[in-house]
Amino acid sequence: MSTKPRVLVVEDEPTIAEAIAARLVAEGFDVEQVHDGLVALDRAAAWDPEVVVLDVMLPGLDGHEVCRRLQAERPVPVLMLTARDDETDLLVGLGIGADDYMTKPFSMRELVARIRALLRRVERAAAAGAGGGAGTVPPTVDVNGLRIDGAQRRVWSRDDEVHLTPTEFDLLACLAARPGTVLTREALLAEVWGWADASGTRTVDSHVKSLRRKLGADLLRTVHGVGYALEVGR
Ligand code: CA
Repeated sequence: MSTKPRVLVVEDEPTIAEAIAARLVAEGFDVEQVHDGLVALDRAAAWDPEVVVLDVMLPGLDGHEVCRRLQAERPVPVLMLTARDDETDLLVGLGIGADDYMTKPFSMRELVARIRALLRRVERAAAAGAGGGAGTVPPTVDVNGLRIDGAQRRVWSRDDEVHLTPTEFDLLACLAARPGTVLTREALLAEVWGWADASGTRTVDSHVKSLRRKLGADLLRTVHGVGYALEVGR
């Protein structure tokens, strides 16, 4: 059996799909391409990919509905391809649960780096879930009316459980480990997403926005030009 990571590429523009697939194969991934949203759901169920690269504008079923249905089945990391920055903001606002976003046109080098980072995070979360590796499990934190259970990866606001995507949880746990401390976007990218460069700081902003929507606008303080902090006394 192949040990290459399985990546499902869902993109209806053949030249883009082919270019992505060719690069990923060259980088050692096992790749399948589909060009339609409904077919994507069938392939994901049958093939069990480890990462899905998903275009937003698709025939059959659009990328945002595909993402929602994929995540309802099981949590698979989704890297979403959007046509414009404001489209990314719109999708984040809808809370569809993509783990990362890239706006076209993007560099293949960066796409590969982000897929590798997603896979590393899945491995880390799996190790934490299996109880392996001290230090991989975020601590359980009670702060500001929130209870964040690092071992179970569950969050309660007052007495209500709030469903977060894996990425939202990791970002919240990272900020909640140091309440009141301002963390730069670059530091958050490195710690939560596992990227060494700062090319994706908008991804941090997008996920902060969705945490605020789910947990209250005043939970996370923006320090303009610097980063974010979890408020201690709101
Ligand atoms: Ca498209």
